[in-house]
Amino acid sequence: MLEYRDIPMADKYDVIVIGAGPAGYHAAIRCAQLGLKTACIDKSLGVDGKPAYGGTCLNWGCIPSKALLDASHKLVEARDHFAEIGIKARNVGVDLEQMMKHKAAVVKKLTGGVAGLFKANGVDDLPGTGRLLSGRKVEYTDHDGKTRSLEGSSVILAPGSVPVEIEPTPLDGEYIVDSTGALELESVPKTLGVIGAGVIGLELGSVWSRLGSDVVVLEALDDFLPMVDRRIAGDALKSFRKQGLDIKLGTRVTGSAVKNKKVEVSYKDKDGDHSVKVDRLIVAVGRRPFTDGLLAPDCGVNLDERGFIYVNDLCETDAPGVYATGDVVRGPMLAHKGMEEGLMVAERIAGKKPMVNYDAVPCVIYTHPEVAWVGRTEEELKRSGDAFEVGSFPFAANGRAMSANDTEGLVKIVTDAETDRIVGVHILGPQASELIAQAVIAMEFSASAEDLALTMFAHPTLSESVHEAAMGVHGHSIHMANRKRKK
Ligand code: FAD
Ligand code: AMP
Repeated sequence: MLEYRDIPMADKYDVIVIGAGPAGYHAAIRCAQLGLKTACIDKSLGVDGKPAYGGTCLNWGCIPSKALLDASHKLVEARDHFAEIGIKARNVGVDLEQMMKHKAAVVKKLTGGVAGLFKANGVDDLPGTGRLLSGRKVEYTDHDGKTRSLEGSSVILAPGSVPVEIEPTPLDGEYIVDSTGALELESVPKTLGVIGAGVIGLELGSVWSRLGSDVVVLEALDDFLPMVDRRIAGDALKSFRKQGLDIKLGTRVTGSAVKNKKVEVSYKDKDGDHSVKVDRLIVAVGRRPFTDGLLAPDCGVNLDERGFIYVNDLCETDAPGVYATGDVVRGPMLAHKGMEEGLMVAERIAGKKPMVNYDAVPCVIYTHPEVAWVGRTEEELKRSGDAFEVGSFPFAANGRAMSANDTEGLVKIVTDAETDRIVGVHILGPQASELIAQAVIAMEFSASAEDLALTMFAHPTLSESVHEAAMGVHGHSIHMANRKRKK
């Protein structure tokens, strides 16, 4: 029998949230802050078998992957680059067990933190499974199999997503793993295959490559990162290949076989059929919305043709008073997008009127250099025939990047040609994930390139590249020869 504290439980709530990932727990906490009697049901259990709130993001996603990315980046810095700046670091090596302990400790602290925040805000957290019935009733089954019927004036569905599995590479949890298994490998494989050069494939491929694996990434598409600015995607591809990731584009995986402790992966490219043998294979071909067992047939909530819960811009489903947020609804599968949707829905239930600005969702790939972008690309603007201007600035001309010995990449700002309003910002470079926040704030306040150009930035900082790129839109970057005529 699973042990957990006695759950305080009413039968009627103002709001019942199903799922305590970033979308669900933000919604639940905000509802409670706004004085609504709130329960949050979540079925996830941590490695210790106890309830672990925070969903994919805290348990098997954003946080553990960043713990390994940050640790492995530090390794590369110490092993390969410290000497360049005059630091002697001998015997730099990997203690994988300690790295995994560090990752587990961060996860435990954060998942425990969510439980603490539920308590502090008066959210009733209910470990177990929720199922939406008709009329905003919810069937709650705890981890011992006991079932109760609850009723909410409003219900928020936030059940998230799970990795996509493909027929040619069935997971066996040892040799062929998904992203969750890839965060738990017990030793550094000598050779590693990754299927999918998307965000997750590149991040996990980078981790294990930095720790010493020979990594081959098999990607079906001919284009690398098709959603990213073409110049930035091209530069990123060159950089990742230089780091040792053998990224094969136009390569569709067709089969796999585990023999003699190796995985033989078959694939097809324009030249025909091939195969490669690796010690471990990570399948990172995307994620799908997770609605298994969630919706009773008469609950009134509908799915779209791709299996996402159908919602409008306000995250309202087809059932009155039932909302859905996060990975289970349309839009990018990103933690912060779900968080904002959760907050919006909570406030709307409480009578406020916020909206999510889907034109200003930042996207980040936490490789090194990092890739980050928000808004529209040049290519999209060309396709739609909208006139635009571009300013860019390389980190190679940024004093702080040079001081830090970290000069790969650039900032590119795209504006509407008529109004000068910033419509997209695209960054490849050190701390792109932090720099992109400036672009999001600028776009949220409808800033023009001139507004940014007239803003004072601290010197010396990487942020000055954002400033210079904004000045570049009008042809007056200071630390670079301008291709455009100065205005
Ligand atoms: P989830 O986080 O999936 O949470 C849903 C929760 O609901 C889970 O705990 C689930 O068990 C529970 N649940 C489902 N059904 C039920 C039910 N019927 N009853 C009770 N509970 C239920 N995003 C970023 O923004 N930045 C990153 O750096 C990033 N890195 C990632 C790295 C990896 C390896 C992966 C896999 C993902 C990453 N993501 C990242 C994506 C991010 O994790 C998701 O976008 C985010 O977790 C989605 O939040 P959510 O609340 O919608 O769902
Ligand atoms: P993302 O959805 O960003 O995580 O990316 C997943 C990637 O996996 C996409 O770029 C897909 O093209 C790629 N992919 C899907 N199926 C296969 C396959 N069978 N072989 C190679 N790549 C694949």
